[in-house]
Amino acid sequence: MASEDSTRKPLPAPDADTTAFWRGLRHGKLLLQHCRRCRNVQYYQQATCRECGGDDLEHRPATGRGKVHSFSVVYRAPGPAFKADVPYAVLLVELAEGPRMISTLTGSDPAEVTFDMEVELAFDQVSDDITLPRFRKA
Ligand SMILES: [Zn+2]
Repeated sequence: MASEDSTRKPLPAPDADTTAFWRGLRHGKLLLQHCRRCRNVQYYQQATCRECGGDDLEHRPATGRGKVHSFSVVYRAPGPAFKADVPYAVLLVELAEGPRMISTLTGSDPAEVTFDMEVELAFDQVSDDITLPRFRKA
């Protein structure tokens, strides 16, 4: 087994359910799943609708707009790889389409974050395969 290098950040590993999602991010789109049966919109891809259990889902790009539903500011790095990032703000963002997603703020001082602050998606390419969806102040 390969030893974990704690100075490097862990990256997500796309699987069959999430390949389209990660491909979308590489092309600057956050894809949400829309259920054609009950019209539920879900973030975080899976094979079936979390509302009705149906499997007639289609990917559509999000507008990228949202607002801060909740947040916390991290002052103590969870590991050596995050040391250079602190302090940083972890946001629970309510997307304009409805789903909520967790990510981090980029491009402004974490001390400026407020509830209901308008944010927009920022695409942070961290490797050839992985672009992370983050948020900046709108
Ligand atoms: Zn549904």
